[in-house]
Amino acid sequence: MSAPQALERALAAGVNRVVVIGTDATSSAEALAITDLTADVELYATVGLHPHDALQDIEEIVALARQGHPRLVGIGECGLDYFYEHSPRAAQRAAFVVQLRLARELDLALVIHCRDAFDDLFDVFDVEGVPARTMIHCFTGTPEEATECLARGTDISISGVVTFKNAESLREAARLVPLDRLHVETDSPFLAPVPHRGQPNEPALVSVVGEFLAELRGEDVEQVRRETSKNSARLFKIDHS
Ligand SMILES: [Zn+2]
Repeated sequence: MSAPQALERALAAGVNRVVVIGTDATSSAEALAITDLTADVELYATVGLHPHDALQDIEEIVALARQGHPRLVGIGECGLDYFYEHSPRAAQRAAFVVQLRLARELDLALVIHCRDAFDDLFDVFDVEGVPARTMIHCFTGTPEEATECLARGTDISISGVVTFKNAESLREAARLVPLDRLHVETDSPFLAPVPHRGQPNEPALVSVVGEFLAELRGEDVEQVRRETSKNSARLFKIDHS
C-alpha cells in the first residue's frame, strides 16, 4: 500500500493526524518528506535510529534533527532491544544516549523502543534523567515494568499486541496506566490487531486498538478516543484546538 493510499484509508476511518516514525537515516528523511503529502491528514514526523541499526552513523540522525523541519515533533524510535539483539548492547546504549540528549536539547518528544531491556533502560534514566516528554512506544513489558516507567515520568503507548491471545500480562499492564498517560498506536506496518493479525498494519486500524483498550479498561470509547488524542497532542506538542 502506498503512503497516499494509507492516508486516504486513515482519513476514511476517522484518523486526521498521523505521526510518521523514522528508524534510520533513510526512513527518517522519508518520514519528514511524507509530511508534505496531503492537507487532509495532518502529518508529523520523528527522526531516529532504531536499536536494531545502532551501528549506523548516529551523526546523520543528529544532523537531520538539527535542520529543524517544521513538522518534526520527536526523536526516535530509539532505545534498547535485547530480545533480537541485532546490534551489540553497548552500541545500542550509546546511540540511545545520544538521542535522549538530542530530544532534550531540541525540546522534542522522545519515542523509546524497549524490548527485554528495562533494567538497562532504567539505568540510562538514572544516569541521564528522563526528558519531560517521553513515551515508551509499543509497550510490551510487565505490569511491574509499566509501574516503574510511570513512576519515572514516561507515558505509555499501547499497540495491537494488546489484542493478541497470549498477551495477558500486557493487558494487565494496560489496565493500570492512568488515562492521562496512555497513548494508542498502530506501529504500522507491523503488529496488526486481532482480527487483522498477520495482515499488513495501517494507520486506519488505530481505532481497533483504542476500542479494545476502552473495553478492557471499562471506559467509554469516546472518552478514550478524546483523551488519548489529547495526550499524544500534548506529548508531541501539537496544537489540539
Ligand atoms: Zn519499536
